Amino acid sequence: MNIPFLDLKKINLTYQQAFEQAFTRVLTSGWFIMGNEVTAFEKEYAHYCESKHCIGVANGLDALILIIRAYKELGVFKDGDEIIVPANTYIASILAISANNLVPILVEPNELSFNINPELIEKHISAKTKAIIPVHLYGQMAAMNPINAIAEKYHLKVIEDAAQSHGALYENKKSGSVGHAAGHSFYPGKNLGALGDGGAITTNDDELAEVISALRNYGSHKKYENIYKGTNSRLDELQAAFLRIKLAQLDADNLKRNHVANTYLAHIKNPLVQLPSIDANNKHVWHLFVVRVIDRSAFQSFLLAHGIQTVIHYPIAPNHQIAYKELASLNLPITEKIHQEVISLPISQVMTEEEVNEVIRVVNLFTV
Ligand SMILES: *Cc1c(COP(=O)(O)O)cnc(C)c1O
Repeated sequence: MNIPFLDLKKINLTYQQAFEQAFTRVLTSGWFIMGNEVTAFEKEYAHYCESKHCIGVANGLDALILIIRAYKELGVFKDGDEIIVPANTYIASILAISANNLVPILVEPNELSFNINPELIEKHISAKTKAIIPVHLYGQMAAMNPINAIAEKYHLKVIEDAAQSHGALYENKKSGSVGHAAGHSFYPGKNLGALGDGGAITTNDDELAEVISALRNYGSHKKYENIYKGTNSRLDELQAAFLRIKLAQLDADNLKRNHVANTYLAHIKNPLVQLPSIDANNKHVWHLFVVRVIDRSAFQSFLLAHGIQTVIHYPIAPNHQIAYKELASLNLPITEKIHQEVISLPISQVMTEEEVNEVIRVVNLFTV
């Protein structure tokens, strides 16, 4: 049996008819940028995230970049200020900080949750610290109560990186609603994925929303009148139309992912394979099902020999990337250990019971 890591074709073909209708609707409307579909999606996604505003943008990286950029325009951040970010995040969270001429301060994660360890944040706060970016990695939200308490104490902004956590809950509060602003990605492989690039920002802050909605559109609210030196980072009308269809199924899709994850958790019984753990405060949406194996490359080859494709999220720690030579001297033992051991098993809403059972069977067969 061949089990792909993620079958995007199968996932999206389940929506084929609805996508074709949406395509025809946009085509015949004759309106392709910032029209009714974008407006409707923004309204629906804000409602879904239990947030006051949603602003569609071109991708998840831009979402984070524009939040920070807007705080600069509002005089809250300036060049050289520091932002705290988990050391084991996907590189985009860190790029968004550097792109704005601010400085990323890397903090080690909790080994069990893979999310930023709130107990280590305070000692990294300096006079230049202006914000924390909790990343809800792999689909489980970060420890938002302690993070928000620290932010309040030091007057910091909290910018959620919600790219991997569409629909996740922390103490019954939605991902994208528990910070001052949140960046979301609709990259095809995300839990809510478009048929191309897409992203959004959610926030309850009226002023911030106003600045971001101008920044994404050349710094303009009114055509040919520019208040800011903005950029072009708009969500496509067609992608918005497709996303509206998938948003309506997101909870059902997440439920199916949860079923796969629970089946793995109940039946993978191999002492060489450390299973992910779920914090009691959280509803995990299983963007990824990440296990830890000391002899990872042997494990990956073994699975592949049995037709099971896996992916490593992520193989190189940000502080070891060539692009971030200035971070190379940091001592981050937990982050480095995680990067050596993590490996993601196939998980999605379209996996069959047979495929899930085959993954379990083969994982349980692995020995060194
Ligand atoms: C995917 C991702 C992003 C960036 O999203 P893009 O839409 O690919 O730009 C940012 N942060 C995290 C944690 C991600 O997984």
